[in-house]
Amino acid sequence: ELKNNTLIVVLGASGDLAKKKTYPALFGLYRMGFLPTGVKIVGYARTKMDNAEYHKRITSYIKNVDDDDGKAKLEEFKQLSTYVSGGYEDGESFDKLNQYLQELDGGFQGNERHRLFYLALPPSVFIPVAKNLKEHCYSKAGINRIIVEKPFGKDLESCRELLKSLKEHWTEDETFRIDHYLGKEMVKNLLVLRFANVAMGAAWDKNSISNVQITFKEPFGTEGRGGYFDEFGIIRDILQNHLMQVLSILTMERPVSFAAEDIRDEKVKVLRAIPPVEREDTLLGQYVAANGKPGYLDDDTVPHNSVCPTYAATTLWIHNPRWEGVPFILKAGKALNEAKVEIRIQFKDVTQGIFKDIARNELVLRIQPAEAMYLKLNTKTPGLYTRALPTEMDLTYKRRFTDVYIPEAYESLILDALKGDHSNFVRDDELDVAWKIFTPILHWIEGKNGSAPRPVGYPYGSRGPKELDAFIHKYGYRRSAEGYSWPVTNMS
Ligand code: NAP
Ligand code: NAP
Repeated sequence: ELKNNTLIVVLGASGDLAKKKTYPALFGLYRMGFLPTGVKIVGYARTKMDNAEYHKRITSYIKNVDDDDGKAKLEEFKQLSTYVSGGYEDGESFDKLNQYLQELDGGFQGNERHRLFYLALPPSVFIPVAKNLKEHCYSKAGINRIIVEKPFGKDLESCRELLKSLKEHWTEDETFRIDHYLGKEMVKNLLVLRFANVAMGAAWDKNSISNVQITFKEPFGTEGRGGYFDEFGIIRDILQNHLMQVLSILTMERPVSFAAEDIRDEKVKVLRAIPPVEREDTLLGQYVAANGKPGYLDDDTVPHNSVCPTYAATTLWIHNPRWEGVPFILKAGKALNEAKVEIRIQFKDVTQGIFKDIARNELVLRIQPAEAMYLKLNTKTPGLYTRALPTEMDLTYKRRFTDVYIPEAYESLILDALKGDHSNFVRDDELDVAWKIFTPILHWIEGKNGSAPRPVGYPYGSRGPKELDAFIHKYGYRRSAEGYSWPVTNMS
């Protein structure tokens, strides 16, 4: 564990991720007393700026510091955060950075501090920066760790190249690959929900479950930042990484222990049982103008004839005894009707005979916004009736866990990296198998082996392509016909 004497170096400190996520998370940890004693934070990027401007930038997304204690902590945080400007490609710049880090080490006679390097940088400079850090800024006496962000390549081949180049400089043990979904409360809860509950464990297989949907919905489009998105598309942006991570924890076998390698071994094992996604199991969409909102192709930064999908639904199959025959539908889209990330597990029909056409059980785990877990189940209609009525058992976090602070994903992950716990970071072989599953379909979408498929249009602000409901129905999803309705309260 990096307890004392730690330097945290944020490379790309002038950027978007640093401002929106990294620094607010570092401050959150500092405020709660979770950063190592005597920690120093050093920002690094090419942009020239003085400490005042740097402080303004890194605190612009920090919220809830109205009370005196918060204000005092923020002042302290600024005091321990300084900035160095330099390039990414040349060794000299990194020698200068190292000199500066050694000056900060000054108080620790002969003992260089531990160093945690956080790469908040575009992938084009991952490799030169990783190399320069190792060659010029590696602490000889302390522990060194490096945190890297997605994208980890664009397909299997480029991912392997990237992994190989990084491994020339940093060991797997020193490397922490962030998929921030692994830091989300409800995703972390999956292990407990599944393995600490006999009732859940017993129903968690093909005998009880009909189909599963893992859904990501975003209510806005690219809004002028489509240039970056167009190179990647929704599958690389969301499905191949975030939703696959959720899928692997949802479906893996019980690990021998909570140790990082035991968990990651099981995740890899289940992913290896999934064949590449088939074209027939894919639905692609692209949003078009509606309700006064622009379409994807109206974004000036997007090529006018782009066939990049902004919506994708893909069905995956797991060939192992637990899951054979159960469809796992991963779906994600931009410019939809709502913001939500959820897992929806639909159970099978109850044996027919005494009941006809009654609703199926459904377990919904809402990852965001507002964490909740609810099980739709049938009860007797109260009163002088015997009819079954669909209702729910509800665990809404806000209501059940009042006054509990749910950490931001980045807070939780940076703390894990400081502790040296890899459980919630992506191992190299996980990436490799996740890319194997999606690479053929991605190459098809890009027209690598013939003409590229054209995504179907869907209106900005809708639930997605109109073909969606038939697509999901094909895999056995039954929407309950009886009007299920949630009791409206001010907690909803
Ligand atoms: P960014 O703002 O575009 O880039 C970060 C910094 O890198 C910039 O301030 C710039 O600093 C430098 N930079 C930008 N383009 C460069 C180029 N072509 N060559 C060399 N340096 C360049 O990126 P970001 O949004 O912060 O994202 C950083 C990483 O996190 C990316 O890998 C991204 O995929 C990942 N990520 C971002 C988010 C997010 O919310 N933004 C979420 C998840 C993952 P200087 O010009 O000052 O050197
Ligand atoms: P629901 O609206 O009954 O079902 C949502 C599911 O049905 C999603 O899979 C959705 O797909 C699909 N769907 C929505 N509209 C459809 C349509 N017109 N045709 C076909 N499919 C459609 O919602 P629920 O999540 O099961 O829960 C019921 C209600 O309870 C919701 O309003 C929810 O917000 C509320 N709730 C409140 C709390 C709380 O306040 N604490 C907790 C739990 C639930 P897509 O996702 O692809 O759109």
